[in-house]
Amino acid sequence: MSRFLSDNYKSLVPYVPGEQVNVKVIKLNTNESPFPPSPKVKEVLSEEVIDKLNLYSDPELKELTAAIAKQFDVTPDMVFCGNGSDDVLAFAIMGFCGRGGKLCCPEISYGFYPVYADIFGVELEQIPLNDDFSINAEDYIGKNKNIVIANPNAPTGLALSFDDVERIVSSNPDNLVIMDEAYMAFCYDSCMELVKKYPNLLVTRTFSKSHSLAGLRVGFGIAQKEIIEDLNKLKFSFNPYNINTLSVKAAAAAIADNEYYDDKISQIVATREKVQNQLRELGFRCTDSKSNFIFASSDRISAAELAAELRKRNILVRYFNKAKIDNYLRITVGAADDMQTLVSAITEILEERA
Ligand code: PMP
Repeated sequence: MSRFLSDNYKSLVPYVPGEQVNVKVIKLNTNESPFPPSPKVKEVLSEEVIDKLNLYSDPELKELTAAIAKQFDVTPDMVFCGNGSDDVLAFAIMGFCGRGGKLCCPEISYGFYPVYADIFGVELEQIPLNDDFSINAEDYIGKNKNIVIANPNAPTGLALSFDDVERIVSSNPDNLVIMDEAYMAFCYDSCMELVKKYPNLLVTRTFSKSHSLAGLRVGFGIAQKEIIEDLNKLKFSFNPYNINTLSVKAAAAAIADNEYYDDKISQIVATREKVQNQLRELGFRCTDSKSNFIFASSDRISAAELAAELRKRNILVRYFNKAKIDNYLRITVGAADDMQTLVSAITEILEERA
């Protein structure tokens, strides 16, 4: 630490992203898609677009906002785009909860929520999950605090029902409810239609998982226009050009290609169900994940040891050294054949110990 860092930030504990590697491995540790992006993405990244990189990107992001609005049947003034959905979450937590505001979230959830709360001076309540890792919707009814919930939740993969989400949103009319739907494409139970009905709901989404564009860094939030105006006020006070021109073009092309992505998403869901069942046959406990990852634990080997054994075989999975989940692995659903390599590797590791 230098002498110059403000006292305000000295105690920050930063978010720790999953490892990115350059060597050839089966990479099941950061919930990326195993598929390339839609071919339409390559088509729009033309030389003509590259030649115009001398100009700033559009700070209003009109092209991308319009494409997202069309896809979700809302008006463009209901869409806010960010550099990844992390950017949208950061603006929202800073703007609606920052400097002494109150926020609550599930105790086991996306690791960035407590980090944002910390950096923006938000009083955060982390609400324990049920023993089976499900979220108890009752804990959030009439909470009288802002709320952020990942649905499906990460790293558990479990989803709240549409009805529970609506009960949470409708019972907290004076607070913002952020539903982080980073993984909702794999769950098919979005609450997006509720944004027209409830002025206190912000739904965030990302291109990083279902749309095979984690490296592009684009995410968005949908809410009523007053919320979006606030988010834009913050953005224009901080980083007006938050998305670059290439990302705008690529994301706008991707969001329109439903045919391509529907097929890829259903392949991932089919592989998830198959591998979850295979792991259960090997004696694993798996949550009923509605996401693009599996959350699994075995009594036959500790999660930390299994992660280490898999790494020796060039398979990366995510292990969290955190109370209550330190005997679970989060395994991204990758390509079907890579997942069979994983199942064979796990079978072999368990047999070696039998
Ligand atoms: N929400 C959740 C629950 C996530 O797991 C992630 C990915 N780490 C994000 C948001 C942020 O994703 P991105 O910034 O790539 O859109």
